[in-house]
Amino acid sequence: MGTPTSDRLIRTEYMIDRHRVVYESGGGWHCECEEFKSTRECRHTRESEGRRAAQAMIAARVRSVNGVLAEFTHHDVKPRQASKQRRE
Ligand SMILES: [Zn+2]
Repeated sequence: MGTPTSDRLIRTEYMIDRHRVVYESGGGWHCECEEFKSTRECRHTRESEGRRAAQAMIAARVRSVNGVLAEFTHHDVKPRQASKQRRE
């Protein structure tokens, strides 16, 4: 009992204007600048968030392209049979 559930902690670091911004899964964003210390948000974390979102979008796009390719190869057999039947 008492096993920590945060074993698989994902930690990503970004360098924005010489500020080290850290993203931890479950912990959110952390920055070392004064703006973040007072407002829990700053342009460094926002910039990093944008980069992270862009990476996620690229990953999703790659996944959907793979899905389209899988569907395309799956349908590739059928149209030939269908076109033969249509021409006869
Ligand atoms: Zn900052």
